[in-house]
This record gives sequence, structure tokens and C-alpha cells, in this order.
Amino acid sequence: MKDIKTYTGQYILVLGLAKSGYAAAKMLHKLGAKVVINDRSTLSEDPKAKELKQLGIQIVDGGHPLSLLDGDLKLIVKNPGIPYSNPLLVEAVKREIPIITEVELAYQLSEAPFIGITGSNGKTTTTMLIGDMLKMGNKKPIVAGNIGTVLTEVVQDATADQVLVAELSSFQLLGTKTFHPRIAVFLNLFDAHLDYHGTKEAYGQAKLAISQNQSKEDYLVYNADDEEVTRLIQPLSVTKVPFSVKNLMDEKGAYYLNGGLYFEGELIVSAEDLAMPKGEHNIANALAAAAAAKLYGVSTEAIRKTLHTFSGVPHRLEYIGAVHERKFYNDSKATNILATSKALSAFQEPIILLAGGLDRGNDFDSLIPYLENVKALVAFGETKAKLMDAAEKAGVKQIIPVDNVEDAVPVSYKLSTAGDVILLSPACASWDQYRSFEERGDMFTKQVHMLK
Ligand code: ADP
Repeated sequence: MKDIKTYTGQYILVLGLAKSGYAAAKMLHKLGAKVVINDRSTLSEDPKAKELKQLGIQIVDGGHPLSLLDGDLKLIVKNPGIPYSNPLLVEAVKREIPIITEVELAYQLSEAPFIGITGSNGKTTTTMLIGDMLKMGNKKPIVAGNIGTVLTEVVQDATADQVLVAELSSFQLLGTKTFHPRIAVFLNLFDAHLDYHGTKEAYGQAKLAISQNQSKEDYLVYNADDEEVTRLIQPLSVTKVPFSVKNLMDEKGAYYLNGGLYFEGELIVSAEDLAMPKGEHNIANALAAAAAAKLYGVSTEAIRKTLHTFSGVPHRLEYIGAVHERKFYNDSKATNILATSKALSAFQEPIILLAGGLDRGNDFDSLIPYLENVKALVAFGETKAKLMDAAEKAGVKQIIPVDNVEDAVPVSYKLSTAGDVILLSPACASWDQYRSFEERGDMFTKQVHMLK
């Protein structure tokens, strides 16, 4: 870790005591800052809060008093999930107090260079793939970020010969200032999180922050099939490397052609040899990952080997098994329409779709073109009626409402015949009924195993 003195003796406010806030507060304390943690929840029973208090970190909980901004406040490190419309942050912006996220802090401290991955969908899959490719190529990767491991924690022991492969959300990127990855990957842009960012333009600009400090010596791997992404990156002066499942850039960068995945004229792997669920989205993820790995000096052989064995990430179009010739897939991580549309496009077989969840106020009409192959919809959760409405418009033959995923599995099995695909791909977040998409996916898997 770099020995930085920037924060010694300074008053710094850490907003939100989740995993990243905890790590940031501890780190800043270690760097000699006067740290105050503030959270709107009451933290008297929180073991993490107790531990920090014992270290001498002040805790202010149960609200966000504006008085926290008084004194000589030098910096706010905010949890990525707290929106800028929070009154404390509005006032902080007015007073020109710098606001960062923990990613920026981690970057300032890291001796290891960064590869950063962002986009609306496919981040985790691509991040894990790059991590595995680099490992296969002996490049000492550390996979972290939005994926579960807090960057500030892992940079402490990261050395210059290692490399951080970081999954980055738009929320995290908004709070970066000097963050400067050697290689950035911009996967796609879809209307997500508009409740937070306000407009798609603002959301796109937040994601673009991944490249804000990059120059000609750095690489930006971008999706040439995504018009919005292509437009957004236009003014940047970084070295741009496209990937395209349609070979839109005429054999430049990474592309898909006649069943093969190529990088700059060289065949890396044929699509049929990919161990991941084969859908256009995973070909895109594989192309993006292969481009990043090649640019980091990994051999084609190591990339090929990785793609032959990497079978995907749990809850992302994960094959659970077959019961009497019905194939079951868990795609619980499909929390938006784009992800579900990709999952539906990945199959030739008749599909029974299990979908529904948290209502974010949108309709599901944009899913209609993808429902052609769907013979039955089993819907649950807050969006049940809206999904049933879209399925009806699409002419889906059987539309059945149920209470939850647990009930949906036996119902879908009864509707099925040999050769069908039974797919959980909810198109919605899980929080109306489950603690997480993982819990929802685990419920599905458990029920499938009970059918056996
Ligand atoms: P993220 O970390 O960005 O949420 P994941 O790799 O966890 O992405 O995948 C989330 C969901 O999006 C999965 O259900 C998957 O089927 C779908 N998906 C994965 N990659 C892509 C892609 N490149 N484009 C569109 N959808 C994708």
C-alpha cells in the first residue's frame, strides 16, 4: 500500500456504514484522519459500529444532521447507494466539500494497477472471466469491487506486480476523481437506475467516468454494437478497442465471425467450445474479456483454455439440471428487461418463463418481441399483473399467476413437456419477496431438486 499523508489529521466524514463504509473508515483512521461515521439507521447494536467506536472513531447515527458539515470538514466518503439528492450531500455540494466513494480511496492507495469493468449488464461475468484469464496467464489478478470484495480492503496487501480487476457500478464511478485504470471495459448501457441518476445521459456520463483520466497509453474496450456507448466515448482521447458480436468494426478489436471469436485477425476460440451458457450476451462478454486480457499481455492459449473451462457464474443463466427431459436454468440475476431478453434469446427450445418481482414503475412491453418462444408464463411478485399483461399482448398461450418462486416451480413442471426449457429470469429485482437475487435463485434451485 502507498504511504500517503493526504489525510493525516483531517476531519473526514464517512457516510453509510455498509461494507465499504466500514473499510473506508478503518483505513482513514489508520492513515491518521479524524473520522466520523454517519448512518441514518441506529447503530447501537451493530458490531461493526462497536468495533470502530473502540478504535476512537466517532459514530453519529439515526439521521443525517447538517451540523456534520461544520468544522473543518475536508472530505466525504459516501456509500455508493446514497443518492446525491440526500439533503446532507446537497448542502455539501453547495459548500464545495469534495465527495468521493471508496473506489477513489482504494485507487489512491493501491500499488497495483487497475483493470476496471462497467456496464449495465454482464459486469460480474466479464470481471470473473478477466480474472480467470489473467490467472491462467500468470498475471496475478485480484478480483474485487462491486463483485463482493471491498477494494479498500484488498489494496492494503496488493503489490505492484499484481493487478486489480475491479467491477465498478455507475454509483461507485460517480465518486471517482483521480481513478485511472490501465484498461477500462465499457460493456453496454441500458435504461437502468434512472431513479438514481435522473436521465440516461447522466447515467451514461457516470459510467464514462471510468475513462475520465485515461490517455493514449491506456485502453478502453467498448461495445461497438451499442450505439449509445459508441456515441458517449467519441470525444475521448484514449486508445479505443472495439468488441462486436456483429463484426461491425470490420475485423478490428475483438469480434465474432462465422462461429468464431477473434481478436485482431487471430481465432481465439470457436463459440461451440465456450463452456458458458451460449447466448449472444456471453459471446459479447467473452469478446470483451478476451480483448482486455490480450491487451494486458495474456497469451491466446491461456485465454482459450479459460473459455474452454469457465462455465459461468451462479444465478446467471446457470444450468441446474434436467428432470424428465425438462432443462432448468436459474437466471435470478436477470433483474431488468435487457437481461431477461438475452436469456430468452439464448434458447431454441420452447420456454416456460418464471418472472416477476419488485415494481419499479415500468411496463414490460419491450419484452414482447422476445416472448415468441415462450409457451407459458408463470408470474409472481409485485409486477405479476404487468408481466401477465405483456404476455397476453405477445400471445403467450398459458399465463399463470402464483405467489412466489417456490410455488412457480411445481406449476411450471406440470405445464411442461419433454424438451422444454424452464427458465427463472425475473426481469425484476428480488426485494419485494426475497433478501437478494441469490436467495431467490437458491429457492428456485431447491425446488427443482425436490422435483427429482
Ligand atoms: P452485472 O454484474 O452487470 O449485473 P452479470 O454478469 O451478473 O452482470 O449478469 C447479470 C444478468 O445479465 C444475467 O442474468 C445475464 O444473463 C445477463 N447478462 C450477462 N451479460 C450480459 C450482456 N453482455 N448483455 C446483456 N445481458 C447480459
